[in-house]
Amino acid sequence: MRKKIVAGNWKMNLNKLEAQVLFRAIDASPKPENIELIIFPVSVHLGKLADVSSTIALGVQNFYPEEKGAFTGELSVTQAKDSGAEYALIGHSERRSIFGEDAELLRSKVDAAIEHGLVPVFCCGEPLELREIGEQDDYVKAQLIDSLFHLDKDQILKCIIAYEPVWAIGTGITATSDQAEEMHAAIRQWLEEKYGRAVADIVPILYGGSCNPSNAGELFACPNVDGGLIGGASLDAISFMTIAGSF
Ligand code: PEP
Repeated sequence: MRKKIVAGNWKMNLNKLEAQVLFRAIDASPKPENIELIIFPVSVHLGKLADVSSTIALGVQNFYPEEKGAFTGELSVTQAKDSGAEYALIGHSERRSIFGEDAELLRSKVDAAIEHGLVPVFCCGEPLELREIGEQDDYVKAQLIDSLFHLDKDQILKCIIAYEPVWAIGTGITATSDQAEEMHAAIRQWLEEKYGRAVADIVPILYGGSCNPSNAGELFACPNVDGGLIGGASLDAISFMTIAGSF
């Protein structure tokens, strides 16, 4: 059985008090069994949240793939770990498009995360113009090959993949369950071709992109969808926990 995971990407939202209140509300909610919950707050709040819950894991939305040094404004991979993060988003479309993070940087982030014991949640997904001409598979496969599939078997087993079609992120337009399952099955097939069936069967693949309490059940019912990476709907404890209870 693959792990089921529901993760909240809070993006650049919430002040310290709001983050604590939301995190406590999520922590106080009844938890569905066998679902791993992860929250990605802004990193300045990590320390405050790390002491609150032993059942909700924390992750960083971003980090720099060096341990220390003259990288003004950056959070090092070791500082991320030290602040309580166990997971790290890598390759989110907002980091790729707004901050220009390229395949080479993402690859070095993947390596640094693995080396320092942070679990990479590697995000991939095609823009609308490529879906419209049917080139989504080639695009997503290239993202995986360029920044993730250099890992060896033991290392890839430490990773989570999140398929997030760019046209669905923050738009209110969700991939249909057929579209999500088709891509998740393709990703699992590529994992199998590179690492073998046993490995492909273990690596969790999450769906992200306007997932909400109304559509989560249908998406999570897909055989290759192992959970969700939730943006907007994770900013409300009831929505987030309803999504987590949608398996
Ligand atoms: C995200 O940012 O990873 C995301 C999936 O956002 P939203 O749920 O708001 O589309």
